[in-house]
Amino acid sequence: MTIPPSILIDLQTVTGFDAGSFVGAHEQSPVTSIRMNPNKETCLFSANEKVKWCADGRYLNERPVFTLDPAYHAGAYYVQEASSMFLDHMLRELLKDKKGIRVLDLCAAPGGKSTLIASLLDKDSLLISNEVIRARATILDENITRWGQMNTWVSANDPRDFGRLKGYFDVIVVDAPCSGSGLFRKDVRVLENWTEANVQLCCERQQRILADVWPALKQDGVLIYATCSYSLQEDEQILDWLKDSYNASTIEVPVPEGWGVVAVQSGSGMAGYRFFPDKVKGEGFFIAAMTKTEHTTDQDYPRFRTAHDKKIQQQSAYLLSDSDLVFMQTGNEDFNALRASHEKDWHLLQKLVYFRKVGLRLGVPAGKDWLPAHDIALSIDANEHLPGIEVSKGRALHFLRREEMGIPDIQKGWQLVRYNGLGLGWIKSLGNRVNNYLPKHWRIRMELTEEE
Ligand code: SAM
Repeated sequence: MTIPPSILIDLQTVTGFDAGSFVGAHEQSPVTSIRMNPNKETCLFSANEKVKWCADGRYLNERPVFTLDPAYHAGAYYVQEASSMFLDHMLRELLKDKKGIRVLDLCAAPGGKSTLIASLLDKDSLLISNEVIRARATILDENITRWGQMNTWVSANDPRDFGRLKGYFDVIVVDAPCSGSGLFRKDVRVLENWTEANVQLCCERQQRILADVWPALKQDGVLIYATCSYSLQEDEQILDWLKDSYNASTIEVPVPEGWGVVAVQSGSGMAGYRFFPDKVKGEGFFIAAMTKTEHTTDQDYPRFRTAHDKKIQQQSAYLLSDSDLVFMQTGNEDFNALRASHEKDWHLLQKLVYFRKVGLRLGVPAGKDWLPAHDIALSIDANEHLPGIEVSKGRALHFLRREEMGIPDIQKGWQLVRYNGLGLGWIKSLGNRVNNYLPKHWRIRMELTEEE
């Protein structure tokens, strides 16, 4: 693999950069890692090597076919690049278990950072996971749904739409679209398409995105900026630009030397962290945290009359274990449950933000019956006493392909299909036949081998 010479020349100025071993690392295979969902406990991968900066992160010795693992579909883990899990260490240091905060993950698809952030938040904190590109927002919605948390809402807005929410968020994460050089090992197409002109375009777009969203950050709030690019223009020089434009100041976090993470300083003395594949077990990555010193008034919440609908509650509350909820209709066919502490946010945000997912989708009324949403099956707040069947791996895969599972005598009614105790989806048994309610677009299309 030939690294573009201009990247190597630029990096000569960066602390700790060693061109020889950096180039050598690009001859090695990329690393495979996953992050466990702490709210969906299983004993999977418990013996695997841990990622040093993320307690839920694990390395895998080889890359399995994740599509053929029902635990993946149940949201037991997320496949995530190890370096980027450093966000876990950073947020733990900066938030120190703060409760009831409002977080925006602005460039969120497919959902790696959002699922990580969600795992760190208490139930009363709210995460808005946003992706401007609609097709990617669909994938994000699926991954957030699998993760199963009601306090993670999915939106599909342009960054500038959030600018109108002045002083609302305690934390904003901008994992910016970038030239991607940190992923050369993982995807050779990134290398083939890499140009200096594109680095310049990315840098301009990064500034636009940051300028658009900056007003939405509270005074003393935290902005996390990250890329998977090695280019100084997209990393340290963006920090300089933030200092210059907004008087932002970076926050340092303690990093043990043995981790191999390189602490760097920008021209104007802003602090960031670089990940080089010859120094860490992971791919190329850059991250920095900074705080907003500019005077910003906190966003006011509007007065509202509760949208809680007792009829929806009567019909659907049996599906959930949590009780401090508001049940409401958020669209023609959308019936949702929200944490009661988030209703004020809904009244504020719904006027400005295009949501794809708010709280937990409940399903729809069907006469006296309730047609439960797929989301309930994957929710960590699903009532654990819901009727269901535990299935083997083979049967779980047939279910996920929307095929007959071949189980005789399933009790009549709605049944939650569980694998290793984790919900996968719904079936309805009618006595003489069983209907599979896995949404069509969630179906596995990959052929099964005889073993499965
Ligand atoms: N945070 C994600 C994760 O951890 O899985 C990865 C995000 S990726 C590096 C950057 C995202 O920014 C992409 O999903 C891309 O679609 C989105 N994006 C592209 N152009 C954008 C723009 N102008 N404003 C905001 N986001 C944009």
